[in-house]
Order: sequence, then structure tokens, then C-alpha cells
Amino acid sequence: MKILVVNCGSSSLKYQLFDMNGEQVLAKGIVERIGIDGVLVHQKGEGDKVKLPNDIPNHKVAIELVINTLTDKELGVLQDITEIEAVGHRVVHGGEAFSQSVLIDDSVMDTLNKCIELAPLHNPPNIMGIEACAQVLPGVKQVAVFDTAFHQTMPKKSFIYSLPYEAYEKYSIRRYGFHGTSHKYVAQQAAKLLGKDLKDLKLITCHLGNGASVTAIDGGKSVDTSMGFTPLEGLTMGTRCGDIDPAIVIYLMKKMNLDFDGMNDYLNKKSGVLGISGVSSDFRDIEIAAAEGNERAQLALDVFVHKVKKYIGAYTAVLGGVDAIVFTAGLGENSPETREAVLKGFEYLGLEIDTEKNKVRGKAVNFSKEGSKVQALVIPTNEELMIARDTQAIVKK
Ligand code: ADP
Repeated sequence: MKILVVNCGSSSLKYQLFDMNGEQVLAKGIVERIGIDGVLVHQKGEGDKVKLPNDIPNHKVAIELVINTLTDKELGVLQDITEIEAVGHRVVHGGEAFSQSVLIDDSVMDTLNKCIELAPLHNPPNIMGIEACAQVLPGVKQVAVFDTAFHQTMPKKSFIYSLPYEAYEKYSIRRYGFHGTSHKYVAQQAAKLLGKDLKDLKLITCHLGNGASVTAIDGGKSVDTSMGFTPLEGLTMGTRCGDIDPAIVIYLMKKMNLDFDGMNDYLNKKSGVLGISGVSSDFRDIEIAAAEGNERAQLALDVFVHKVKKYIGAYTAVLGGVDAIVFTAGLGENSPETREAVLKGFEYLGLEIDTEKNKVRGKAVNFSKEGSKVQALVIPTNEELMIARDTQAIVKK
């Protein structure tokens, strides 16, 4: 079965075409600058990336271009578009309506439209992508896979904020959590690597990328996660502030004479390690600057590590112990220094890391010492594969 996985942003569209027979990626790419000038970067198998500038006014044209490229004699991997049996879409916010992936129909679309209020930046492009695929690939089944779904198992004590209860009842204000597809995938892979049943494991998964979150997973179920009503809460991120005293928002709006958009920008785009370091939102740049003696760059890394540590400690308590701590995403997979710094101090849990094994980048490995009571793992995430698997399972039903 061939499945197209689509991840639409406001001006971009990422895609991967899977042959589920062997879970092989036949082609992948990204359409960028939709509505501006437009460019498609396409890669066939492991081949070279090809850049195709094009006039791409909207997501429908972007999907048409992707399909044309996938069926192109030279660049393509399909004889005919009818070979695409299903499309899986990443959808950011499923609210409380979706605790798992779903086959898209009119009623699902109605609910997705209702969720726009909760994710005004993310859900509209996801919906545009679904509508575009419905037009370009009529009759092909489409599945929505939500970032929030995996966290719907959280108990109420984890997801209710200490606000008047009407905030939840009237305005749906609660912790939803994000990166769910990634946390779920790495949890499954961790169980495989450990040769254990996921049902018997207490895991803390750290998705450390530009956006970052930590999840406590008990027996395969998310029981708490650091992102909240929006992906702004929790860890210090590339440009997002994570946890702060909410009174700061009110204080700064007054002091700096910021309106809502200005404050939103300040917290989402100007904060995080970028804000602290003044260097960059990219951890690679910050690591280099810190090594050259830039104190604020070092401070940004220290604050980041401190926060991850705090969540691991808190979630060990929530879970009543932990079997394995899992690192994933850009920084989690590629920065041995960050992993080592985060885990320093957890020796009292019986965690001992092997610094040689920890040198790994981008590969699944158990980097704890032989005999360590708690295991430390690197597991590369693969949200696209997870979306393809869910899509296949749903359309096969
Ligand atoms: P997102 O999907 O949220 O954009 P990624 O998971 O791709 O994020 O992670 C991007 C982050 O990972 C960047 O800040 C980048 O600096 C960091 N990163 C990637 N490779 C390395 C590396 N070798 N060392 C340190 N940081 C890295």
C-alpha cells in the first residue's frame, strides 16, 4: 500500500510517500514559500535534492505540484496517481474530540473547523491541506493524525489548570499537550530496544528540538506532559519562553506598552534560548558561542538543561519511578553534551551513563552503563512513519 503523508504549515507543505510494504520512503520533499514565490524541493529515494521554483499561490496548487512531481517520468516514483491509496495528515489540535487518529469525513471536518479557535495558527493550514488533497485526489481516503491525541489519556489532575473551573467548561482551557505522535513513536521504539512490553514500562520521553516537551508515559499512556493549552508552556525552547510566572505577562504589557499581538510575539518568537543568549535560536550556534566564552550563550544552555532536569525529576515522582529516559528530536538525538548535562545528578535514581556510548548522534542506542537501574536511550523520532502507520491501520479497517 502506498501512502502519502502531508504536513501543512501556513506557507509550507512537507510530504513523504511511503510504500508500506517494508515501510520504505519512496520520495519526500517540501514546498516552501506558498503564496510568496514558491519553491519545491524534492528528493527521490536517497537521490539528490532537486529545487523546482514555481508559482505556488495556494495549498491546492502545492499539492498538484507534488502529485505531478511524484508521477513525473524522471523525478517521479509512481506510474499513476491512482497508486496513492491513502493520505495521512498531521493535524496539530484535535481538542478533546479526538483521542486517536480518524478517517476524515464531513463530520470530522466540522469538528476540525471548531478546533480552529484553539489553534488559530496551526489548524487552518492543516484544513487547507486536507481540502486540497480532496480536490486533487478525489475519492482517496484521508486520515487525520493529531499532535494532541496521545495526551488525551492524561488524568484530570494533570490537565486542569488552577483557574476558575468555568475556564475549562466555558472556554475549553486545559492542558492538551503536543508532539504526541513523536512521544508515542519513541515510547514504542524504546520498548522494542529494551526488549520489554510497553505496558510494563514507566518512561520519560524528552522531545528536544526547536519546540521541546517532556512526557511521562505509564504503560504506554501519557499521564502528564510539559506543553499545555498551547505549545508555549513547559521547557525553554528555541524562541518560546516555556513556564513563566503569568503575572510577568500583565506587568510587561503595561511596562512596554505591548498589545496582545506584541506580547504574543515576545513570548513565542523572541524568548527562549534566543532571548536569553541574544545569539540564535539554534542550539548549534549557541553551543559554539558558549564554547568561545559567551556567558549569555552558556546561561541559555544552563537554563534549558535545568528545566529539562526539573521535569524529569517531577515526572519520576508522578510515575512513582522510571525505567527509562528517552531523548529524541534535533537536540535530543544529536547533542551528547546536552544529554549528559541533563542526566547529571540522577545517579541517586540508580542511573549511570556510559559516556562513550553517549557519543552517538541520530541513532537508536541505550547509552546507560551495564547494570544501570534506569536506562538512558536515544531514539530518533519519525512522526511521518507513525502517521503512515496510523493511516494504513485506519484505511484497512
Ligand atoms: P523542530 O522540528 O522543532 O524545528 P528539530 O527537532 O529539527 O526541531 O530540532 C532542531 C534543533 O535541534 C535546532 O535548534 C538545532 O540546533 C538542534 N540540533 C540539531 N543538530 C544538532 C547538533 N548536532 N548539536 C546540537 N544541536 C543540534
